[in-house]
Amino acid sequence: MTGITDNLLATPRTSTLLILATLTALAFLLMPICCEASSDRQLPDHLPTTNVILFIGDGMDEHQITMARNYLYGPTGSFTMEKMPVRSSVKVQTLREDNPKQFRYIADSANTASTLATGLLTSKGRIATAAISNKTHQTILEEAQLEGYRTGLVSTSSLTDATLAAFATHSPHRDCQSPRDMTIEHPFIPITQQCIQNQTELGGHGSIAKQLATANIDVLLGGGARFFDQQIEGETLLSIILNQDYRLLKNTTDLFAAPDNHKLLGLFAQKHLPVEWIGEDNHRAELITTNTEGHVVFPTPFSCTPNPRHHGHTQETPSLAQMTEKALSALSKDNTKGFFLMVEGASIDKQAHKRNPCGQIGELGAFDQAVAKGREFAMQHPNTLIIVTADHGQAGQVIPLPETYQLASQAIHKPQYPTGYYAILKTLSGELMAISYATNSSPQGQWEMHTGTNVPAFMEGPGLGEIPITIDQRYINRLMRQHLKLDQPRH
Ligand SMILES: [Zn+2]
Repeated sequence: MTGITDNLLATPRTSTLLILATLTALAFLLMPICCEASSDRQLPDHLPTTNVILFIGDGMDEHQITMARNYLYGPTGSFTMEKMPVRSSVKVQTLREDNPKQFRYIADSANTASTLATGLLTSKGRIATAAISNKTHQTILEEAQLEGYRTGLVSTSSLTDATLAAFATHSPHRDCQSPRDMTIEHPFIPITQQCIQNQTELGGHGSIAKQLATANIDVLLGGGARFFDQQIEGETLLSIILNQDYRLLKNTTDLFAAPDNHKLLGLFAQKHLPVEWIGEDNHRAELITTNTEGHVVFPTPFSCTPNPRHHGHTQETPSLAQMTEKALSALSKDNTKGFFLMVEGASIDKQAHKRNPCGQIGELGAFDQAVAKGREFAMQHPNTLIIVTADHGQAGQVIPLPETYQLASQAIHKPQYPTGYYAILKTLSGELMAISYATNSSPQGQWEMHTGTNVPAFMEGPGLGEIPITIDQRYINRLMRQHLKLDQPRH
């Protein structure tokens, strides 16, 4: 979840940005030729490493994929991830905190990432802990570490955000991010999920940032620098990490200059990384109005453009594909065992909350480029299992253009128009596509809510012959454990 604060800058319409827009669009258009599907790779006799790469597009349900695909490639195109040879539909399951024998039908990133990480269900807001009992659920990353695998976590969000945290930390609630959060009462968190019970002084695991600082993960790349400036026992979390032989990376130059034989800590933003794209003139979806004659006034169509905060002259912020490429080279350098890597495209979800279709589309395109890096790596390292999935559904929908509503208005002599927030995008191929967000009221509803649909899973790698058409998120965890030869989860 994210708040409503708009952290996007106004878009100067300069020739530099137009060139960048063209180059970025071309980069997206070139990506799908990367990797052809191959479900039955021939494995060599000697398998030097066993690897799992899990890609999570936050909020990336089929509707969000369709919207981005239409914009970037048109209805006949496809993403790199959609060319992977195995595909299944994934049920999203969430327990009630007040009665874990019952389910609720809307999830959040915390409980769903926890299920992908642990193979066990839990309730909203929880990070790898059991509903009500707060029992610790071991994660696949922790067990892979114990078996000698290297580990990496990469995200476009703060490292302390829910999805990434669920793979390496344990907390009654996702909001227990930093030491400061551990001593205050959080008004919107249930009593059984208050941070105070996870204080180290009371035998708990401590804040998410503190746990990440001592988790000995080989590659940690994302944002959230401000959380690591806080202290425990007179020392900042950052200095605690750096004393463990990590190389600190703050920008793209640092990322590529870093040696592969070091542990890597990338803190590329104070909180979340800036998004790749915004709407032309900062346009997002907006409410539809009627004029004084009672006629419906639809919003003006717009295109997407690179976000100057991400694509500045210095290219300071690495893309998710660049972070993924570096993580893969660092994790595989002189490694004879293998690794577990999770890569998250976090702001597909965050931009949908803000009703910003261009933000979503740019992040989804960037996520797919990161998947392409994973697939290129797997071509060279055939004992690599790649799973691309989402955690839960989001609010964006592709709906009819104004002409459809105008025809209906004429037919019944009453103004017809969609509820909620509406945007008309001019796609890269010049067609128009209408997007709606309507899971929260207007104008008081400040951000969109998640939806309860299934999410996709795209898979590639050895041993994937008999995957059911419909699975659940626990099944994905079992597949990954099986590939790494780890024990299956126990309740
Ligand atoms: Zn969300």
